[in-house]
Amino acid sequence: MIQNSSIRSLIKKYSENKLSHVFLIETNDKQKVLEDVLEFVKEINCTENNFNSECTRCNLCHLTDTLALPSLKIIYPDGQAIKKNQMEELKNYFLSIPYLTKYNIYILNDAEKLNASSANTMLKFIEEPEKNILGFLITNNKENIIHTIKSRCEVIKAYYENNNNLLNHQNIWDLTIKYLYNLEVEKELSIVYNKIILDEQLEKEDLQQLFQYILNVYLDCLNQKEIPEKLKSLNHYSHQELLKRINLVNETIERLNYNININLLLDYFVLSLED
Ligand SMILES: [Zn+2]
Repeated sequence: MIQNSSIRSLIKKYSENKLSHVFLIETNDKQKVLEDVLEFVKEINCTENNFNSECTRCNLCHLTDTLALPSLKIIYPDGQAIKKNQMEELKNYFLSIPYLTKYNIYILNDAEKLNASSANTMLKFIEEPEKNILGFLITNNKENIIHTIKSRCEVIKAYYENNNNLLNHQNIWDLTIKYLYNLEVEKELSIVYNKIILDEQLEKEDLQQLFQYILNVYLDCLNQKEIPEKLKSLNHYSHQELLKRINLVNETIERLNYNININLLLDYFVLSLED
């Protein structure tokens, strides 16, 4: 079964004929993404009436499981780069119409290793959607993808739980400092800063952790303990101003326990902070 909800939602788009033809998937677990994309390939191609991921009855699922489906190509970097000749091979291979399936599909692992010349070759077939070619580019960080490619992709985030690479405490702490720095030191843009948080698509537990950290910073400040260097200007706040903040954060943590709209909650938090 497809584990990640962003990838699962592609099934619906496929059935509605609304699928983009090239996706850039940012993830904290490339192996799991690869498994999910292969599940997606099985599900859209399966010839059984009711697909289930254990399908062993149909030939297409079997071919996908054994990585022998002719219309599926999985590409890994050749050494330190995805090379121009790899992209040319792919382009030539996909000159023919898909065999057995609706789409020719490629999966590009470590897409950040595309260089200018291989990306250039790739652009030529990315931009021919009429050819029924579907691409999945997988990366740990979309910011490292060459711009000409990224700008043509639909970007999806596929994060997996139980992976300590990304949303560990250090990362949430770093995010907390960045967010507070913008809200309390930069100040200019107000609720626009909520994008810092929203872009991370945090789970509720992570958001609670983040606000707990914010609370700790204000409490430390109130108690004249050491606070992070970037936030030193908080020391100028009066006792009363700090208490107001502590109450507001407590209220926000309380509200997080309910299933409420995160965008609205964060907006409320920022606007109250400014009052
Ligand atoms: Zn099947």
